[in-house]
Amino acid sequence: MAANLKLKTKNSKRILIIYTGGTIGMMHHHKTKALVPLNFSEITSHIPELKHLKCKIDFHSWKKPIDSSNVDLDFWKELASVIEKNYSKHDGFVILHGTDTMAYTASALSFMLDNLQKPVILTGSQVPLGAIRNDARRNIITAMEIASSNVVIPEVGIYFSNQLYRGNRAEKYSSSKFDAFHSLSYPALVEAGVNIEYNKEAIAKKPKGKKFRVHKSLDSNVALIKLFPGIPYSMFWQVIKIDGLKAIVLEAFGSGNAPTDEVFIGYLKYATDRGIVIVDISQCSGGSVELGKYETSALLKKIGVVSGGDMTTEAALTKLMFLFGQNYSAKKVKQLMEKNLRGELS
Ligand code: ASP
Repeated sequence: MAANLKLKTKNSKRILIIYTGGTIGMMHHHKTKALVPLNFSEITSHIPELKHLKCKIDFHSWKKPIDSSNVDLDFWKELASVIEKNYSKHDGFVILHGTDTMAYTASALSFMLDNLQKPVILTGSQVPLGAIRNDARRNIITAMEIASSNVVIPEVGIYFSNQLYRGNRAEKYSSSKFDAFHSLSYPALVEAGVNIEYNKEAIAKKPKGKKFRVHKSLDSNVALIKLFPGIPYSMFWQVIKIDGLKAIVLEAFGSGNAPTDEVFIGYLKYATDRGIVIVDISQCSGGSVELGKYETSALLKKIGVVSGGDMTTEAALTKLMFLFGQNYSAKKVKQLMEKNLRGELS
C-alpha cells in the first residue's frame, strides 16, 4: 500500500522511506497502556525536519504497521517487492523497522537483493518519535543523509545511534541502550559524529555490469538450536525428525565446540547422512568458528557439519532460507555456506 507524499527539495537524489512499524512509530494504547503501532500520517507529522533535507522524498507505508516480532517470510517478500518496484525511480531506500528483528530483515534482504547498486538502510528507535526525548528523529535524519550522500553505499545496512553497520554483520545486543546494535566481526561502514565519516575501505564496491535482481523465493525449513551444558540430546532427535527439515543452525560454544558424547554426535551424523545441512555458528558475537581446533569440534567436522565462520546467527539462518529457496542441492548449499556471498563472511 503506497501512501505517497512528495516533499520538494533542491538536490537531485530521490529517496524512498518505507515505514513498516516498530517502536519508532508506536504510542501507548489509551486503555491497555501497551505500545501499539501508529499509522503513517501520524509519523510524518512528527518529523517536520524531513522537509529540509536536501533530497526528494517519497513514502511508502505498510497498510497495517507491525511490531517486528511479527516479521515473517511474506513480509520479506513484500519488502523486497516494494524495493524492486521502486528501484529505478529512487537513488536509495530508508526502511523504518522495529529493532527486535531488524538484523534478520537486513540479513534476508542482503541475500534477496542481488547486485545491489544503491543504499538500502534500515533504521528504527528504542523510544518512539512521539516522546520528547527520543532517538528516532536523529536516526531517521542521519539515515536519510547517508542514503542520499554522494558516497554511494551499495549495501543493505543498519543505521543506529551514530553507526551504519553492514546489515548481515549487525546484531541487536541491547534492549535499553540507544546504542542497541553492534557488529563485532566487521567494522562500521559509516561513523556519524560532527561529520559523517565514510569507511571507504569497508564499504562494498558497486557490482559492475551486473543487473540488479530480486530473489523472492525463500525456504523456511530451517531450525536453530543453541547448545547449553546439560542440553537433552533427545531434543536434537525431535528436531531432526521434523518433516521437510533441510538445515539446522547449531549455536555452539566458543570457536564452534560441542559435546563429544556419542549419542549427540550420532544424532547429528544421522542428520548429515540424510542430507540435512548443519551449520556451526559460535555463541560468541566476536571471533570465528574453527572446526578442528579443539577435539570438541573435530568430530563435528568429521561427520560433515559445515563451518559458519564468523557469520551471525541471523545471517546463517537467512542465508540457508535463501539458498534452499533457490532449489540448490544440500551439497551445493554446504559449499555456498562456506563461501562469502554478500559480505556476510570473512
Ligand atoms: N518491539 C519493537 C519492534 O521490534 C521494538 C523496537 O522497535 O525497538 O517492533
